[in-house]
Amino acid sequence: MAERPEKKQEMDLRQNKANVMLKKAAEGGYGIPGVCVYNLEGILATVRAAEAKSSPAMLLLFPWAQTYSSTVLATAAAEAARKSSVPITVHLDHAQSPKAIHEAADTGCYDSIMVDMSHHDKDENLRLTQELTMYCHDRGIVTEAEPGRITGGEDGVMDTADLEAVMTSPEEAREFVDTGIDWLAPAFGNVHGNYGPRGIQLEYERLNVVNEAVGKDVRLVLHGTDGFDDTIFKKCIKGGITKVNINKFMNKRYMDLQNGNDGKLGLTQLMEEGTKRMQEAVEECIEMLGCGGKA
Ligand SMILES: [Zn+2]
Repeated sequence: MAERPEKKQEMDLRQNKANVMLKKAAEGGYGIPGVCVYNLEGILATVRAAEAKSSPAMLLLFPWAQTYSSTVLATAAAEAARKSSVPITVHLDHAQSPKAIHEAADTGCYDSIMVDMSHHDKDENLRLTQELTMYCHDRGIVTEAEPGRITGGEDGVMDTADLEAVMTSPEEAREFVDTGIDWLAPAFGNVHGNYGPRGIQLEYERLNVVNEAVGKDVRLVLHGTDGFDDTIFKKCIKGGITKVNINKFMNKRYMDLQNGNDGKLGLTQLMEEGTKRMQEAVEECIEMLGCGGKA
């Protein structure tokens, strides 16, 4: 792998708002909700919850937001973050192509980007992660990477051998840190989507070892949090997790509202009540992560 040149922006990256937020969380022993938002309601719900609880928070958009709305959703998120009375940052989650990353980095809307090249073989994953991290760093944006795919099998069912193969090892974690990334999303039994009949079985010892391996300047990110409770979150935070991705826990409230009313709610009614329901969900997350009052 090519030598990574010392960059004059290193100093600026330490000032990066998202980096500062997670450093404080690591020092304070609490988590930051990284809330996946798909619409304006999700953005408003997250910001309002953070303000109500005096908590920091992150707004997570998927590359879908770019294909669906060009820069409109990202601009709205960045504007909501900027106007908020508490620290809010904007993150692009699971960006899986150089094109999506270049486009997002050039908008000026994002504080952080997940460079997810985990669909490539490992060498290519590492090479692209390094290259794209440099591109983001040059623009003052910090990056997150995922060594293996934190994937869910059908209904979350995976046999033990499959699961072991995608788990993050400390060696692998080091290799990714060497690309220059700022945050790492380890696989230690967590999967996206439903956990299925196997249930939630996390390897906290692996998390601890990975945390040791990445060193004190790299933050760990938790993906696949569906069905996690207060106790699980606390154990993960103890193991070094600072950014906690939240998706269904909030967005399902909106869907439930819509489904529960047989589509009879008027549009503005659905939007306003949906925002309120999602705000409640984010406030519950803030309680579980212990970040209330940490703004
Ligand atoms: Zn994820």
